[in-house]
Amino acid sequence: MEKIRCALCGGSVQSPLYTINNYHIVKCPSCGLCFVNPQPGEDELKKFYDTEFYSGRHFSKYALKPYWEGDNLEKRKYSQRMRLGKIKAWKKKGRLLDFGCGDCLFLSCAKEEGWDVSGYEFASPGGELEKLYKEYHVVSGSLAPDSFSADSFDVITMWAVIEHLRDPVGILSTLGKFLKKDGLLVIYTVNIESKRAKKDGPAWDMLTPPSHLYYFSDTTLKKAVLKSGLALKRLEITSELISIKTPKEGTRGSGAVQVFKNITGRYLFPLKHFIRKAAGRIFKGTEITAYAGKN
Ligand SMILES: [Zn+2]
Repeated sequence: MEKIRCALCGGSVQSPLYTINNYHIVKCPSCGLCFVNPQPGEDELKKFYDTEFYSGRHFSKYALKPYWEGDNLEKRKYSQRMRLGKIKAWKKKGRLLDFGCGDCLFLSCAKEEGWDVSGYEFASPGGELEKLYKEYHVVSGSLAPDSFSADSFDVITMWAVIEHLRDPVGILSTLGKFLKKDGLLVIYTVNIESKRAKKDGPAWDMLTPPSHLYYFSDTTLKKAVLKSGLALKRLEITSELISIKTPKEGTRGSGAVQVFKNITGRYLFPLKHFIRKAAGRIFKGTEITAYAGKN
């Protein structure tokens, strides 16, 4: 365990917020960043990700399994396609890196839609996933400045990943170097300033140290992007209060009604996304997405 300073403003004094799983979550009074302090070391995290996270004993919802074995596959695929929809407003095709690609489900959906995909994952879980990691060009291990070529990606995505990182600002800055000049970095995380987080307090289900080490709000995520040397193009807060209808598992593509639902589900995305954004602002939604690029 290592006592750290605030990653955004360098402050060394923080106020206690919650204690969860014997980890202390604190808030920096000067910039508002919430994080685990002291932080577990790299070795402790490696052990956690090897034995707990990937095995899914504690976090089965997020566990790494070959995607075809997961529960609610159609529902999960649908949310990956919603994510692709967010990108399409900026970029239609090109080279895409999914940073923290997990079971490669997002990569498989992106590949289906014509993207040239690569992935990155902290640990290499082996087994069935090894084949997938080859297929989707996944690099694992510690991220280094030469893990990927500079100026080589049109899009880099981080879906619910930044909150797991020990050095979020440093990683953002490194990822920025892999982006093409007009490339897009998409950072999606949960909002500790959301109505739900406030209401649930210490029982909020996103407070999961040592898995989640940082807890951002729209303000602190914006600061992290700027501190990493990137430009912030847009920041959205969306609300899960407006649920996205998903096709029932196993029924996708079967029957005229289902085909109609699939088509409308996909093409109504811009409208649904607009509603979720509006609701997110009004109700202080739980999801934040930042769109960043090179300066
Ligand atoms: Zn601070």
